[in-house]
Amino acid sequence: MPIQTLSNYIGGAWKSACEQNTLPVENPSTGEVISAVPLSGMKDVEVAATAAEKAFHSWSALPIKERAQVFYRYKTLLEKYSQELAELVHKENGKIMSEAVAEVDKSIEVTEFACSMPQLSAGEILEVSRGVECRIDRYPVGVVASITPFNFPLMVPNWTIPNALVLGNTMILKPSELVPLSAIRIAELLHEAGLPDGVFNIVNGGQASVEALCDHPNIQALTFVGSTKVAKIVYARATSHLKRALCLGGAKNHLIVLPDANEDMTASNVAASMSGCAGQRCMAASAMVAVGSVDHIIKKLCDEAKKIVPGKNLGAVISKKAKERIEGYITEAEQQGAKVLVDGRGVKVEGKENGYYVGPTVIDYVRPEMRIAQEEVFGPVLSIMRTKTLDEALKIENASPYGNAASVFTQSGGMARYVIDHASAGMIGVNIGVPVPREPFSFGGWNESKFGSGDITGKSSIEFFTKLKKTTTKWSPESKVNWMS
Ligand code: NAD
Repeated sequence: MPIQTLSNYIGGAWKSACEQNTLPVENPSTGEVISAVPLSGMKDVEVAATAAEKAFHSWSALPIKERAQVFYRYKTLLEKYSQELAELVHKENGKIMSEAVAEVDKSIEVTEFACSMPQLSAGEILEVSRGVECRIDRYPVGVVASITPFNFPLMVPNWTIPNALVLGNTMILKPSELVPLSAIRIAELLHEAGLPDGVFNIVNGGQASVEALCDHPNIQALTFVGSTKVAKIVYARATSHLKRALCLGGAKNHLIVLPDANEDMTASNVAASMSGCAGQRCMAASAMVAVGSVDHIIKKLCDEAKKIVPGKNLGAVISKKAKERIEGYITEAEQQGAKVLVDGRGVKVEGKENGYYVGPTVIDYVRPEMRIAQEEVFGPVLSIMRTKTLDEALKIENASPYGNAASVFTQSGGMARYVIDHASAGMIGVNIGVPVPREPFSFGGWNESKFGSGDITGKSSIEFFTKLKKTTTKWSPESKVNWMS
């Protein structure tokens, strides 16, 4: 079958990109090319920004309850097509079906939250003096761009779409060029839910399309989720054009394991955290800091890791390049003296020999100065570092430039509280390997895991996607009265 080149979605219609260059899209489980994505540039962004700006006037003028109604219907459609959506996520991203189903479920959950925006984003009013009131109303920001990574093709776009749109903004989504297919279904389902044309648009592409989104004057705000390297560039470029920007970056999450931790629960949690979504999660356990004598837990952890089978309960990594990068980290750590306890290099899955699989890998005696201890590996690889004390463990965690998540495994409330207070991360787990806050709490890290203020989901997103108007009113007819009295 000939490979189909995808279109952009602008003003409610599918439009070929102005740019001719395309990139092949692969199924990571098989290495097969499944479509081609256009590499759009400024001309395409220009058309999309014009359509989004045009739609903004009538969409933002609707009562918020009416806008929310579209998302009640969208949520029902996500439920109706959940199996098909999960299969699509599995196909373009390579994660296993149960993980793809969980991604759809999370998309439904965030949409459900957006449906409560009419209640959550209500303004405020107060009589500030006799007969004088101050009120605060929220207004949408305008056209918002949302730039997303490859690891959650359905969920991360849905972190921003429902909240931003219910709050009255219009949007241009720029999905990852590695996984552009789920976004197509998002556009189709939003259309089916009754979203007016132009409120939601898609521009496909890579670097040039992102730069155009940063530069275009009609775009008022921009969210980005991806690697720290690119988050920094995008944040600097978007804010230099005086846009509101929130850019989430990469991660290096430390799980601190204390000797009193529950053996079975800790081992299975750590193994699941480092291997879920093939380690391609910004919440994945990448480093375990083993405090004192926890050999019994490490042994159990290796037993758990060995039960994780590529192609069965472990998905593929995104590309050949990613597989080579991950295996390179393991080899380098081994050469520098670390001990590979479970080795996932060179695995082949029967029937999927061209797929990009890396098996679960556990490496002990990693030292903090090694590259594998410092950089984001983004694969199913756990580096274990040994310390004598909890303070030494926290020193390692604090030294990381990232700050997305950190967890502690212990049965001591006092020790747990100490880690909560002293870890330098935005999301903390106590006996939880993947401490994702669920709605209404918001998602976001610290340090170089996030640039910009506030968080991207939950209640915090209301601040990002709205601006406040403060009105002071006096209806009393008396003159020469100081209203400040
Ligand atoms: P990436 O940074 O390579 O790409 C993200 C987006 O930026 C894509 O849409 C891509 O087209 C665009 N892009 C790539 N290079 C660019 C450039 N030079 N200039 C402008 N735009 C560019 O990230 P990825 O590989 O798709 O995703 C994995 C990364 O995302 C990991 O670092 C992971 O930790 C991070 N991530 C973070 C979170 C979070 O909440 N903090 C969530 C998911 C993923």
